[in-house]
Amino acid sequence: DLKGTFTLHNGVEMPYFGLGVYLSKDGKEVANAVKWALEDGYRHIDTASIYKNEEGVGQGIKESGVDRKDIFVVSKVWNSDQGYESTIKAYKSSLKRLDLDYLDLYLVHWPVKGKYKETWRAMEYLYKHKGVRAIGVSNFMQHHLEDLMTSSEIVPMVNQMEFHPYLVQQDLIDFCNKNTIQYEAWSPLMQGNIFELDIMKDLAAKYNKTIAQIVLRWDLQKGVVTIPKSAKKERIRANADIFDFELAATDVKKLEQLDRGKRFGPDPNNFDF
Ligand code: NAD
Repeated sequence: DLKGTFTLHNGVEMPYFGLGVYLSKDGKEVANAVKWALEDGYRHIDTASIYKNEEGVGQGIKESGVDRKDIFVVSKVWNSDQGYESTIKAYKSSLKRLDLDYLDLYLVHWPVKGKYKETWRAMEYLYKHKGVRAIGVSNFMQHHLEDLMTSSEIVPMVNQMEFHPYLVQQDLIDFCNKNTIQYEAWSPLMQGNIFELDIMKDLAAKYNKTIAQIVLRWDLQKGVVTIPKSAKKERIRANADIFDFELAATDVKKLEQLDRGKRFGPDPNNFDF
């Protein structure tokens, strides 16, 4: 169900289905999206300081009336804030904008070369002293993770990556699973491009579900946390309606086989400015 969770390596329960808010406008638009999602049973919201909508996210949380402790709130430190002191400062600024006193998960948004290790030291500090319930990374390829883990004390609890049938990166998923790093999908709907694929139309007809529901169900059956974005009330509700059916193993495989290493977002190996 919507409140179902995967357990992170420190024992924290992370709801495996959440709402993404990239490109949702600050103010009413994002506040409404968050409020509608929480009313529909979502318990996980994914924002970032670079999305410039943390204030609206905080407002939506308040307006929903749902208990803070029942919501899993995620934000991320932006590239230009990386480094030790600046990460701690960025965390405090995010909290202030959200009007919250802790985050459930704080992520290093991108592996900024020459900086991400210092940033990670600050993440460890925040985890140990400032009440962040879990810390993780985003857009870390295997070599970034291996490099990070040569000097880190705490293994990242999560790696949030672009993930959809055109970009599976199974080796990276396997590496993360082996190292107890929970894999999480961004752009699970291929930023809207998933709706064009014929095979998705066929599967939607076969299961009598929407294309979004098919691919989001696939994420969960792959053991991957997923955070589709929408700011529309009806789509937010419908995207979450994935708990009354199951994809056959052959169909899970069929979607895996669409993999062609195609990105719709930036490449982690050269997005470190
Ligand atoms: P997405 O794959 O979730 O697709 C969103 C697009 O699909 C939007 O244009 C939306 O209007 C459309 N859509 C949603 N539901 C629909 C439906 N039922 N029918 C038709 N269209 C529908 O793309 P995303 O927003 O890039 O990714 C999801 C979230 O992941 C983001 O909001 C953000 O929180 C996170 N993210 C993180 C990173 C990162 O670097 N860590 C990068 C990108 C996104």
